[in-house]
Amino acid sequence: MQIADTGTALREILKSAPRPCVLVPTMGAFHAGHLALMQQARALAGPGGTVIVSIFVNPIQFDRAADLAAYPRPLTSDLAACGEIGVDVVFTPAADAMYFPDRSVSVTESLLSRHLCGASRPGHFDGVCTVVLKLFLLTGCDTSIFGEKDFQQLAIIRRMVRDLDLPVEIVSGPTVREPDGLAMSSRNSRLTPQQRQDAPRLRQALLDAVSLGSVEAILSSARAAIEASPLTRIDYLTLVDAETLQPISEILRPAVLAVAVFYGEVRLIDHASVAPA
Ligand code: AMP
Repeated sequence: MQIADTGTALREILKSAPRPCVLVPTMGAFHAGHLALMQQARALAGPGGTVIVSIFVNPIQFDRAADLAAYPRPLTSDLAACGEIGVDVVFTPAADAMYFPDRSVSVTESLLSRHLCGASRPGHFDGVCTVVLKLFLLTGCDTSIFGEKDFQQLAIIRRMVRDLDLPVEIVSGPTVREPDGLAMSSRNSRLTPQQRQDAPRLRQALLDAVSLGSVEAILSSARAAIEASPLTRIDYLTLVDAETLQPISEILRPAVLAVAVFYGEVRLIDHASVAPA
């Protein structure tokens, strides 16, 4: 396994890398969800292709300085996990290897990012699109894999690829969950034992609500179930069209019930599909 910590070093390694090149962008602090995406990448690349994993806690996608500072960075164990899975190249740049101090160009998405995480985290998806475009350009990857857990991110990356004619195939991987249903997240390790015990209610609240038929019934049931715990504060709870990600007042097409909550300073997201009657 080769490790690069600058764009120049990465390009040098990848000059002779056999195709296809499959990229898994991450911020590290691996859990089983990340590992599943890497295994998927290994299978897609085949034994002869190249699997690239980037580990970069991207400062420009954080809207809260405290969240960026507290983000876990267990690089040694992350690299060991990449080695075990059979990743070929790991890219681990520092922030100053990715961004000039006077950088002035970025990617902006202006429709799918209007609601959900885009509304509550100003600038987040511009930061995500900018870093992902840079990673596509630095690696020249043929395929890149993203988790369905971050479904707004996945939709926005697909839109960026479509609108900017990027020659990269986007593949998604299913959400990996703890046995109690909590979606795996690098932020789960920051929950107190009491918050961790409470957190699976989030998923259950969504699943119990999605079949209730009307937008009002779904939203009020999920809200009541989530607010039943004094440990959480809802950041948003929104029912959106599955394709446009705009809030809906009637369920005529596939939709998504999406939630973000705070446990103290820790923000968790989850979502569930809603089918039209
Ligand atoms: P992150 O390190 O949080 O930026 O995530 C890196 C990639 O892993 C993204 O494509 C995420 O959507 C994906 N991911 C995060 N959590 C999960 C999960 N529980 N199951 C599957 N994929 C995930």
